[in-house]
Amino acid sequence: MTEETLSFQAEVSRLLDIVANALYSQDEVFLRELISNASDACDRLRYAAISEPQLTEGDAELRIELSPDAGAGTLTVADNGIGMNREELIENLGTIARSGTAAFVQALGEKKGDVEQIGQFGVGFYAAFMVADSVEVFTRKAGEEQGWHWVSDGRGSFTISDSDQAPARGTRIVLHLKADKKDYLEPHRLRHVVRTYSDHIAVPVRLAKGEEEPETLNSAGALWTRPKSEISDEQYTEFYHHVAHAADEPWTRLHFKAEGTIEYTGLLFVPGTRPFDLFDPERKARVKLYVKRVFITDDCEALVPAYLRFLRGIVDSEDLPLNISREMIQNHPVLAKIRQALTKRVIGELERKAEKEPETYAGFWENFGAVLKEGLYDADGQRDSLLKLARFRSTTQDGWASLADYVSRMKPGQKAIYTIAGDDPEKLKRSPQLEGFRAKGVEVLLLTDPVDEFWPSSVMQFEEHPFRSVTRGGAELDEIEQAAEDGAEEEKKDKAEDEEAGPDTATLLAFLKQSLGDKVKDVRLSQRLTESAVCLVAEEGDMDLHLAKLLKQHQQLSEIAPRVLEINAKHPLIRQLTAKLGEGNGAADALEPYAFLLLDQARILEGEAPLDPAAFAQRMSELATRTLG
Ligand code: ADP
Ligand code: MG
Repeated sequence: MTEETLSFQAEVSRLLDIVANALYSQDEVFLRELISNASDACDRLRYAAISEPQLTEGDAELRIELSPDAGAGTLTVADNGIGMNREELIENLGTIARSGTAAFVQALGEKKGDVEQIGQFGVGFYAAFMVADSVEVFTRKAGEEQGWHWVSDGRGSFTISDSDQAPARGTRIVLHLKADKKDYLEPHRLRHVVRTYSDHIAVPVRLAKGEEEPETLNSAGALWTRPKSEISDEQYTEFYHHVAHAADEPWTRLHFKAEGTIEYTGLLFVPGTRPFDLFDPERKARVKLYVKRVFITDDCEALVPAYLRFLRGIVDSEDLPLNISREMIQNHPVLAKIRQALTKRVIGELERKAEKEPETYAGFWENFGAVLKEGLYDADGQRDSLLKLARFRSTTQDGWASLADYVSRMKPGQKAIYTIAGDDPEKLKRSPQLEGFRAKGVEVLLLTDPVDEFWPSSVMQFEEHPFRSVTRGGAELDEIEQAAEDGAEEEKKDKAEDEEAGPDTATLLAFLKQSLGDKVKDVRLSQRLTESAVCLVAEEGDMDLHLAKLLKQHQQLSEIAPRVLEINAKHPLIRQLTAKLGEGNGAADALEPYAFLLLDQARILEGEAPLDPAAFAQRMSELATRTLG
């Protein structure tokens, strides 16, 4: 026998410190985690046996067995699943592979985390150290000669040696229970814990009882094959916790059987909270694919579109062939059909919820709206449905607005759906570009998710109303009638003022263009400003303001192209400038600093730095000195 002692990865050590020393009221979840691993091991063996039937020869009935030994003070959890070889033991029970786990360990350490969630982070095995002060693992990988023994007291290291006491196939985990955890030797306690958390496990979980026949503790048999009427809400939720590695309550579930040209069963859940890996760049869906009750893969991109990747659960197909590789299955035409039907079904359910339960739907939208919107440019035929499901914050409404709501509130003469993009809804609401829209009572949708930069340009319109950014192109505000409550009087007055601003502004515009040169694309009179003196907008065909900034931030764009400076002819500052310019004889030269101050002001309003901060500061001081003097 060769024995070797190895150190846990630092992060595992830290997790073990926390788990072993803290008092958790829910320490019973250790059993859920060990049974879940044993069940996964049985699933994997069943899959491997499709191509290598000899793996299960002589011992085809997969099972999990709990054996309490009061004399030794040990609880043993054994399975005859796939087992582990030496490398796998070291890799799986000594390191942490999954991203996001560090944050969990941190939260646990600060007592802000919930140990209930341990399974979610791919470290469920270590929960064993909540109840045991030493853990032994005997294991033999299916089809291999050599068995192994792993042992650890959870304090920084573990020891591995070859072993002839390993089971013929699979894994036996022996927990040396802590003095105050001996209640896990009692059958009624084990029975209760298994029924609470592991009833839905498809392989039988049995309790060994010495000489007597072992007792099966769970319902055993794939939950999704049972009729809905025989499954309780609790059982559904436990199952969700197991397949999703989640600890929350699902928001909704779909359990259905499709019969016809293709036959499959689905049991899908929409989580009640955001899974931590929702925005992983991989955008992977985690719905598990089964074929005739045999687990095939949980990494099947073709099963669910990326914009539904928040779904959890299983799909069990009757038509897919068992004997082809996981990779080949991805391209199978049956899978494409299942995906299409599944997508429709899920969208149908979301439509139903949006109508019947607008409040909980709002919660769903807050969690997953940003993901669902990715479907708007994935263009798989669901665009119209997704547009109807979409919800937005807006300048005139509290809470969420649908596009249909928006359209019903459009003003006479208004043709477009107006939007403004940025990160922070509160800041966005104060954007100068919105002033003219506010004055006319025109609603503007606030687009605050990164994905919002991309879909409007491919969707183009909703019910024939084009999407238009208020920070791009002309504002067309004169085509929209004044809000009724403001009265016609004011409009007349505005018109009169516009005309009054008329002739001289041409000189001002020319002066500003001349002074600012290539720092701006153009200088124009604004329709959209009513309070501020200036703002920046993008030229019609150019990239929208926020997108340009976003791309620059991510180094996708080296320079933001010059934009259009709009000026508010009615603003006192602009009027005075116009008047001064009219005085002629060299006035323009003296006024040049003001041109730059106007541009810098507009930049600052966009959250950008002045063009040349030092020059800006100097101009400001000069001006202030003059005013004070
Ligand atoms: P997770 O199950 O989320 O991967 P765990 O900490 O529960 O995280 O388990 C880590 C890994 O250890 C598993 O992914 C699996 O590869 C291996 N493992 C644990 N228990 C068993 C078992 N009974 N049989 C085979 N492999 C196991
Ligand atoms: Mg696990």
